Amino acid sequence: PTFSGYTGRFAPTPSGYLHFGSLMAALASYLDARAANGRWLLRMEDLDPPREVPGAQAAILSTLEAYGFEWDAALLRQSERTEAYRHTVQSLLMQGLAYPCDCSRKRLAPWPIYPGFCRDAQKPDRDAAIRLRVPKLEYAFEDRVQGRFSQQLARDVGDFVIRRRDGLFAYQLAVVLDDAWQGMTDVVRGADLLDSTPRQLYLQELLGLPHPRYLHVPLVIQPDGHKLGKSYRSPPLDAEQAPSLLLRALRALGQRPPRELHGAGRAELMAWGIEHWDASRIPRVPTLAEAQLK
Ligand code: GLU
Repeated sequence: PTFSGYTGRFAPTPSGYLHFGSLMAALASYLDARAANGRWLLRMEDLDPPREVPGAQAAILSTLEAYGFEWDAALLRQSERTEAYRHTVQSLLMQGLAYPCDCSRKRLAPWPIYPGFCRDAQKPDRDAAIRLRVPKLEYAFEDRVQGRFSQQLARDVGDFVIRRRDGLFAYQLAVVLDDAWQGMTDVVRGADLLDSTPRQLYLQELLGLPHPRYLHVPLVIQPDGHKLGKSYRSPPLDAEQAPSLLLRALRALGQRPPRELHGAGRAELMAWGIEHWDASRIPRVPTLAEAQLK
């Protein structure tokens, strides 16, 4: 089929293995891209070496392959992109849109939102975090599943870190630069990132980058109320369970695979998913993990 212009992606962080919640996000973004005759890219968000689990990158790639995902270009690693991040931080500093902050964790502990201690302090940028100045403006967007979402950045978020004190670049900065660099038209990801989106819209505006469309898929909640994710011991995905977990992920995304698909292989399931994909069926509310999911 001819390429429609849609470009989507999956962007895992190698601080852990893929779990059922990541499978839902990967599958939603893959099916949404393929159903639109779009491209689907893979990006490894390996920005934080100290938090990387050894072997997680390779495990993530082999899990995606085992589940039948096919990406269209070479994998992009954020660890190869630090020159672009550095350049952007420098330019934001020079324009006065960002500033160095050397506040200690202890000093900031009582404040839920950064109170702007270093905003006008002209601190040197050595051994300091770099924060982006946010305006007292509302940033809103229409999520394809969650509906309208908005934040007033100064009140709800505060000046946020784009480069950490240890020199590592922050997710918010890297994701915006790379989504643009890779030509993303559509971002489909987990709803834990819904409240990062207004910050990303603001960065896109500052940097003159296009806003993609957004779709945030519901999170998976463990029976004990924990969110399934990196911060929690989530069971990694087993390659042998690919067909049954793909089927389960399709259902959790509100799709209605017929009984005949029971016992089908991953290729058949993916083909069915692409052909019948209907993003408007994705539920807004969190999915409860089934007990037998270990
Ligand atoms: N790397 C992020 C994560 O694994 C996802 C980033 C994104 O999709 O924007 O949670």
